[in-house]
Amino acid sequence: MKNRVVFFDTTLRDGEQAPGFSMTVDQKIAMAKQLERLGADVLEAGFPIASEGDFESVRRISQELRGCAIAGLARTKKEDIDRAWEALKHAKRPRIHTFLATSDIHLKHKLKKSREEALETAVQWVRYAKSLTEDVQFSAEDATRSDFVFLAQIVEAVIDAGATVVNIPDTVGYAVPDEFGQLIRTLRETVPNITKAVLAVHCHNDLGLAVANSIAALQNGARQVECTVNGIGERAGNASLEEIAMILHTRHERLKLTSGIAHAEIYRSSQLLSNLTGVYVQRNKAIVGSNAFAHEAGIHQDGVLKNPLTYEIMTPVSVGIPESVLVLGKHSGRHALSKRFSEMGCRLSREELDRVYTAFTRLADKKKEVYDADLMMLLQQETPETSAAYVLEGVQVLSGTQLIPTATVRLRRSGETEENSSTGDGPVDAVCRAIDRITGFPARMTEYTLNAVTKGKDAMGEVLLQIEYRKRIYTGRAASTDVIEASARAYLHAVNQAVFHHERSATEKR
Ligand SMILES: [Zn+2]
Repeated sequence: MKNRVVFFDTTLRDGEQAPGFSMTVDQKIAMAKQLERLGADVLEAGFPIASEGDFESVRRISQELRGCAIAGLARTKKEDIDRAWEALKHAKRPRIHTFLATSDIHLKHKLKKSREEALETAVQWVRYAKSLTEDVQFSAEDATRSDFVFLAQIVEAVIDAGATVVNIPDTVGYAVPDEFGQLIRTLRETVPNITKAVLAVHCHNDLGLAVANSIAALQNGARQVECTVNGIGERAGNASLEEIAMILHTRHERLKLTSGIAHAEIYRSSQLLSNLTGVYVQRNKAIVGSNAFAHEAGIHQDGVLKNPLTYEIMTPVSVGIPESVLVLGKHSGRHALSKRFSEMGCRLSREELDRVYTAFTRLADKKKEVYDADLMMLLQQETPETSAAYVLEGVQVLSGTQLIPTATVRLRRSGETEENSSTGDGPVDAVCRAIDRITGFPARMTEYTLNAVTKGKDAMGEVLLQIEYRKRIYTGRAASTDVIEASARAYLHAVNQAVFHHERSATEKR
């Protein structure tokens, strides 16, 4: 049995569909390119039938990436598979990933199918997918709560029908490691044609066991692991890519498994994802959290200084955490800026560089030292979202201990400018209300945080907020040396996504 583990990354599908993690098509492409540099073997780029945006991202990623295999998700239905194939067909190595639930609880309550009908459906659509492309993956949704005999039957049948990969997901995050390892081992021992396909696992983290379960499965013969950067995904998330990769690397002697992951790209990938989505990684997150390599206790610090191996099982450099950060300032040129961005995982086009450079010189005039976090903020702010987006032209606020806070905001959309004013409970509230008056879009702010992006009194204030509209959550993020302006931009950033999403689904319904 081969010891090379296939990394199937689903950051752009399972990860992106979690609330607060949505990305635009361009952002997904930037992330996909970084995942390719990271060495992911397969990228699940989206669920093409789910929306126009998903279709478009799968199509463009298929066209633009030549390194990894590209997968698109589809239910066991003709229209899903056709749509997935339409998006994937230009990929160098396309993979159709189709799935059907196999647990009685899903069959009875969700699909209203008998086991026999489910088996027939799975075989029929795997065969159909196979008629379109060589590489077909089948997932038995909710496998860990399925009847074992039935699960083994369906696995055998889809392999006969041509599935090249069979995935056993712990969809609800219910399994414990020895049990899950045992399930994989028993499937290998009982399904007669099992060696004709790669056995895969997809674990969720509801009980905090996604990584442990994945490792147990790999120890018992699974050879594809599905995971996401920073462990993002539905509910408590998916198994974290960086943790699995570093376990295989650090404990190679015991596990004897290898991967194609370029460890030095791990930190950059994690940073890029959180910069694109505006969701930070928790400080104590393994491998990529800001405390992951910080030794605070005196006795530990003393030990590490004498010999890093006393308390360090891996080095920050090995996962790509930079030893020292080059600080850019007023006199840094275009070339230095472009180089710094590419070190952060962003290759800028000429136009992007021009735009960001202008913003950079403006910022460098206001503050002495410009850090990586500042640069990422500039890049995000200077990237035009769509022509249909609202753009902040100006904001003015009157506030103080004796005054009722009043804000006047000027916005531009599709060439037209509109201005409005409002009072509020505080200056930020007044600004948001003034924006609402112009957009006519009643969003509710559910979260608001203000952080200093970097050190020093001249640091940019970064606002991260969430709004809720029709049960969907949109994240907004912006930074400025003026916190009121940052709040206005962040709020508008979130509102633009909500407007865009709302108008797009309105056109799709028509
Ligand atoms: Zn999942």
